[in-house]
Amino acid sequence: MSVQIEVTDLHKTYGKNEVLKGISAKFNKGDVVCIIGPSGSGKSTFLRTLNGLEGATSGDVIINGYNLTDKNTDINLVRQHVGMVFQHFNLFPNMTVLENIMYAPVELKKLTKEEAKEKALHLLEAVGLEEKKDTMPEMLSGGQKQRVAIARALAMDPDVMLFDEPTSALDPEMVGDVLDLMRRIADDGMTMLIVTHEMGFARKVANRVMFTDSGVILEDGKPEDIFDNPQHPRLQDFLSKVL
Ligand code: ADP
Ligand code: MG
Repeated sequence: MSVQIEVTDLHKTYGKNEVLKGISAKFNKGDVVCIIGPSGSGKSTFLRTLNGLEGATSGDVIINGYNLTDKNTDINLVRQHVGMVFQHFNLFPNMTVLENIMYAPVELKKLTKEEAKEKALHLLEAVGLEEKKDTMPEMLSGGQKQRVAIARALAMDPDVMLFDEPTSALDPEMVGDVLDLMRRIADDGMTMLIVTHEMGFARKVANRVMFTDSGVILEDGKPEDIFDNPQHPRLQDFLSKVL
């Protein structure tokens, strides 16, 4: 198994608030890891340091051999290989669905316009939204927006996909479609780190679950161990509230 992401003693401080207090973890190619934990425990901050949206205060983040914390590393180049999906979609509001998906591959000169269009149409078909290609994002439901956001991230052929609570802003009836899509991406072998409160999804789809609390990883293991045999009292308490 090849290590794709290696995080060593990662710290992140905002002013006097130490949000990440020494996180170390390795993720292998094809890992599907769900990150669970209470609000404010640093889950979003952790994901954001993995694609350079936040700089680390200290420690190392190495993705595909590139050290994100090295000043000489071209962060934009690394970021092209790390797709990110946000709770609130973050689609470009002034572009059609198709243009949203074509934008990065064309702008970063990975594909010609024709190639990007062909690829975008293919991805839209895969997420079940071909007929929405010329629609503006504001006309879509939350679930449709999130499927477009996922297609947009996939258009860059990322090596890793980061999801930050991708279903938390959705109406309940939309959640299943997005989780089904994420499961298909996992089945295709994508390396995925997913911050989520969907414990059923974590149990079924993840090969590993990490519990974070107050900026540290308190437990890291197979879903069945985390959910059926939690060791740390704080994990036991957390699960008693969410399950
Ligand atoms: P989670 O995603 O687990 O809810 P976050 O990573 O969003 O947690 O936040 C962890 C802590 O970091 C919180 O106390 C939050 O207020 C703080 N924080 C997050 N982002 C910033 C920021 N850009 N500036 C200052 N404080 C921040
Ligand atoms: Mg968060």
